[in-house]
Amino acid sequence: MPVPIQPDAMRLLAALAKGSRALMRGRFWGDGVDALLGEIGQASGASRVWIFQLLELQDEAVIQDYVFEWAAKPSYRQLTQRRFRFFASVFDDPTYRRMVAERQRGMSQRFITERMAPGPLRENLESQQILSMVTVPIMVDGRWWGTLGIDDCERPLDWEGAGLDALVIAAELIASSLYRHQLASRRRQFELFQQVAECGIWEIDLHSGSTWCSRALLRTLGYPDDYARLPLRRLLAHMLRADRQRLWKRMRQCLSDSGAGQSFRLDVRLQRPETPARWHEIVAELACDTSGRPSVVSGLVIDISRRKQGEERAMLAAEYDELTDVMNRRGLTRHLQTTLKRTSTTLCHLLMLDIDHFKQINDRYGHPAGDALLKLVATRLDNELRGQDVLARMGGEEFAVFVSGLDDAQAWQLGERLRASIADTPFLLPPLAGMAAAPPVTITISIGIARLMPGQDLEHAQSLASTQADQALYAAKRTGRNRVMPYPQAAPASPQATQPAASRPSDRGSD
Ligand code: GH3
Ligand code: MG
Ligand code: MG
Repeated sequence: MPVPIQPDAMRLLAALAKGSRALMRGRFWGDGVDALLGEIGQASGASRVWIFQLLELQDEAVIQDYVFEWAAKPSYRQLTQRRFRFFASVFDDPTYRRMVAERQRGMSQRFITERMAPGPLRENLESQQILSMVTVPIMVDGRWWGTLGIDDCERPLDWEGAGLDALVIAAELIASSLYRHQLASRRRQFELFQQVAECGIWEIDLHSGSTWCSRALLRTLGYPDDYARLPLRRLLAHMLRADRQRLWKRMRQCLSDSGAGQSFRLDVRLQRPETPARWHEIVAELACDTSGRPSVVSGLVIDISRRKQGEERAMLAAEYDELTDVMNRRGLTRHLQTTLKRTSTTLCHLLMLDIDHFKQINDRYGHPAGDALLKLVATRLDNELRGQDVLARMGGEEFAVFVSGLDDAQAWQLGERLRASIADTPFLLPPLAGMAAAPPVTITISIGIARLMPGQDLEHAQSLASTQADQALYAAKRTGRNRVMPYPQAAPASPQATQPAASRPSDRGSD
C-alpha cells in the first residue's frame, strides 16, 4: 500500500494568496472560484478539486449540484457527467447520514480509501478510483452552503495539519466572496425595490444617535449617493416642524410601550432646499437589544404625494357643488368647523338664501335653463362677497353664506346687498341647444339671517344657527319674499327687515 503523502504547505499558501486575489478582482464571482480551485489543485498535485452546492436537505436525502471543478487531466472531469446534475444522495448508510450532519456543523472530513471500513461510502470512492478524498464545508453566514472537496486518484494524499488548514481558509475565502456577491445582488434588489415602490430605507441607532439612509433616500433628500452618515438633527430638519413634533410624539409613545415589534406609520411632509415639501409615509419598527432595551428604530419612507393629491382632489370633489362650483353643504360644514375652532370670540353670521318661485322658471323655460340660472345666481352672489366669506349651495335653489367679523347691522346690510344684486339686474340666460334665446329674466331671493355664537359646542352652534336662519328665511317668504329677515336674536337695532315692492319673478322681456 503506498504511503500517504502530505501536500506542500508553502505551495498551498501561495495558491491561497493567488486565489484570494482572483476572488477579490474577478468580474464574476465564479471566475474567482475557478481560479482558486485551479491554484489549489496544482499546488497539491491532486486529481480533482470540486464544489457541490447544497440545494435541499430532506429527512431521508440530500440534494446537491456539482457546480465547480478543476481537473488535472480531462479524464478526471466529472462536472459534465449527467449523474452529477442535481443529484440526490439517500441516507441509506448511517455513515453518510453522520457525514452530512457533521458538514452542517462545519466539520471537515478526510478519507484514505484503503483505510476505510467496508461500506457504501468506500465502494463509492473505489468505483471512482479515488485513493483519497478531503471535504470542507463552505459555511455562508453560519449555514452550510456547499462543500469543497479534493479527490486524488493517483496517490493517497493525507490532508492532516497545515494542508487541511489551507483548505479551510480556501472554503472561508469562497464563503466570504459568495457573501459579498449575495450582498451586492441584495443591494441591487433593494435599489430596484425602492425605485419601484418610490421609497427609501433608514435606520437610527438609539444609543449613539447615528443614522443610516439608503441611497434612494439620500437622493430624495437631495444628497449624493455616497454621502457620509447624516446626523440625526440634519435628517429630521427635512421634515416640516409640525410633522416633526408629531413624529417625536409617536416615537415617545412607541418607546414607552417599548418592546420589540412596536411599529407605527405616520404621514409627514419632507422637503429639500428650494423645492416644495412632498408627502411621505414613514413606516417605523422598533428593535430591542438582548437585554430588551430599545436599540434601533428603522423602516421606510414612502413617497405618497400622488396619493395625497388624489385624496385632496377627491375631498374637493366631495365638498364642492358640481353645477355651480361653489361649496356644497358638506364643504360648508367642514369650513364652519375649522373656522369656529379657530375663532372663539369673533361674531359670525349664517345667511340662508332661497330663490323665490324658482319652480316657475323651470316651468316656463325648462330645467336646463333653470340650471343655467342657478350658475349665474351663484356667480353673482359670489361677486358680492369678500375673499374670506363663504358661499355654499345647500341643495336645489337654496344657498347659504357664512361671514365672520361683522356685527348684526353689517350682516343685515350684506344680506340686503345680496338681495338687491339679484333683484335689481335681470339675468341673461345663455342660448340652449334647440331653443330660442330666452329674454332677460328677473328673479328675487329671500334671505334669513342668524348669529353663530362662538364658544358654544360646535355642532350645537351650527345646527342652532341653521335652524334659526331657516326660520327667518321662512318668515321672509311668509311676509312677501324678496326680503332679508334676521332671526330676532340677530336683528340689528333698525331696520328689522326689508320691505321691497317686488316679490314675484317676472321676465321683463315679456312684461
Ligand atoms: P318659493 O318661493 O317658496 O321658494 O318657491 P319655489 O318654487 O322656489 O320653491 P319650491 O321648493 O316649491 O320649488 C323649488 C324648485 O326648484 C323645484 C325644483 O324643480 C327646482 N329645483 C331644485 N333643484 C334644481 C336644480 O338643480 N335645477 C333646476 N333647474 N331646478 C331645480
Ligand atoms: Mg325657492
Ligand atoms: Mg327652496
